[in-house]
Amino acid sequence: MSVVERDEERGARARANGGAAEDHDRIAVENPATGETIAHVPDMGADEVAELVARARRAQPAWDALGFEGRARVMYEARAWLVENRDRMLRTIIEETGKTREDAIVGDWSFICDSLGFWAKRARRYLKDERVRSRSPFLLGKKLVVRHRPIGVVGVIGPWNFPLNLCFGDAIAALMAGNAVVLKPSEITPLSTLLMAEGMRAAGLPEGVMPVATGRGGTGAALVDGADMIMFTGSTATGKKIMARAAETLTPVSLELGGKDPMIVLRDADLERAANAAVSYAMANGGQVCTSVERVYVEEPVYDDFVARVVDKTRRLRQGAPGEPGAVEVGAVTFAPQADVVEDHVHDAVEKGARVLVGGERGAGPGRFFQPTVLTDVDHSMKAMTEETFGPTLPIMKVRDEEEAVRLANDSEYGLNSSVWTRDVERGEAIARRIEAGNTCVNDGLINFVAQEVPFGGVKSSGLGYRHSGGGIRKYTQPHTICVTRFAPKRELHFYPYSARTSRMLERGLALLYGRKRRR
Ligand code: NDP
Repeated sequence: MSVVERDEERGARARANGGAAEDHDRIAVENPATGETIAHVPDMGADEVAELVARARRAQPAWDALGFEGRARVMYEARAWLVENRDRMLRTIIEETGKTREDAIVGDWSFICDSLGFWAKRARRYLKDERVRSRSPFLLGKKLVVRHRPIGVVGVIGPWNFPLNLCFGDAIAALMAGNAVVLKPSEITPLSTLLMAEGMRAAGLPEGVMPVATGRGGTGAALVDGADMIMFTGSTATGKKIMARAAETLTPVSLELGGKDPMIVLRDADLERAANAAVSYAMANGGQVCTSVERVYVEEPVYDDFVARVVDKTRRLRQGAPGEPGAVEVGAVTFAPQADVVEDHVHDAVEKGARVLVGGERGAGPGRFFQPTVLTDVDHSMKAMTEETFGPTLPIMKVRDEEEAVRLANDSEYGLNSSVWTRDVERGEAIARRIEAGNTCVNDGLINFVAQEVPFGGVKSSGLGYRHSGGGIRKYTQPHTICVTRFAPKRELHFYPYSARTSRMLERGLALLYGRKRRR
């Protein structure tokens, strides 16, 4: 039996056993758009996780020995598998998240197809040995090489909002660097990760190189104890717990955490484009995006016009259970407690004087929905403007000028994505440089994520380290410096025994070298 059990199979097994299947060590996976339970997966304990890590550790050397070419072949095969099996993969993602087909295509499936090819092609270049010339006089004539050695077993712990992209997606670079990876998907959305593991096996990934540890937070904690490095995407609160736990074993961590991404709309912006983007980037994936537009600051002269456009566009959004392509724009709330957070932020804002111009309520069942919501008359005393809402809400605040907008944008514990909207792109870029965030777009938002050539990460409470680019794969390696001496005297000047003559010679030589005022 596979680790994932669809509920129709489970029902058949229960009937065959003459009773109900046991549930104590299994987690039910729900379709949030319908409320139905669709599958059960094991809740793995610490022993099982330790066994998966040990298995991955045994499989890693042979995988590393395959070299870049051999590993790239598996990645290209996996991409072909994902294209052939896209309907199955999209259905799985849609069922476990309640997101629309378009959100699954853009945010998960196509990105992973691109990513498989990206790392298959680039890994060798990013990780090639570096020949270095040292400026130290003690190393004259010696060869210095830095090679990037895989770290061993990488634990990838992912969230529920992009279950394929932000779990398996981070394994690709780690695998291409020669590591084995143990994946820990969110308990809410484990099915696409399990399906991708099946795809990787079909693509030729050797047994044991990428096992999946399904389970709850405790399963993730056990992975932190066993892995050689942790790549985590999730909330800031859990990120802090992981870092504290990893400190016990001095295990390195890379953390991609929450965001409260600001959008600044200046008086000379293309308002129609800005309004379209604000609505799309606030509501995409049901607003459950770490880089979604979470708050907007609009300069006074264009505030009313911008709000009117946003309200009109938001009113026209269709929400519901995902069906045919193009059927609805906004899907379900994937994680039940998130609906409470969204509701709390809206209620808190209203109590403190905000106005709800569109939405503001939970949507009709049987699934779990929250209406696309526009809030105005908001300020920084409200949770909707300072805490991560992670739902389909768009709070808009009027500001006097650019200075106030920048000050408020930076008045946040987070610093993930951000955007500035103006027709004067030079001014936009100058403002972008003042924003305290890992990423800023001028006249667009969040699309920078798909540029895998450049780093993507957060500052302040939004994270530590980054994904994508050369650094995004080198983090899965340890630099190993090799210093080679070929032609050399039997005794270097700094070797024992010390003598007054050589010591003086050395000292004078160094004083001569460093005594010059010229830069060297
Ligand atoms: P959580 O932090 O709740 O969970 C993330 C993962 O960590 C899950 O697999 C979870 O397991 C696991 N986990 C929970 N507790 C522990 C623990 N003590 N030790 C180890 N692992 C643990 O995040 P969400 O799933 O709610 O995801 C939403 C958050 O992710 C938002 O804050 C969002 O901003 C952020 N995010 C950040 C991104 C970025 O790139 N910066 C991108 C996307 C999302 P389980 O689910 O089983 O509890």
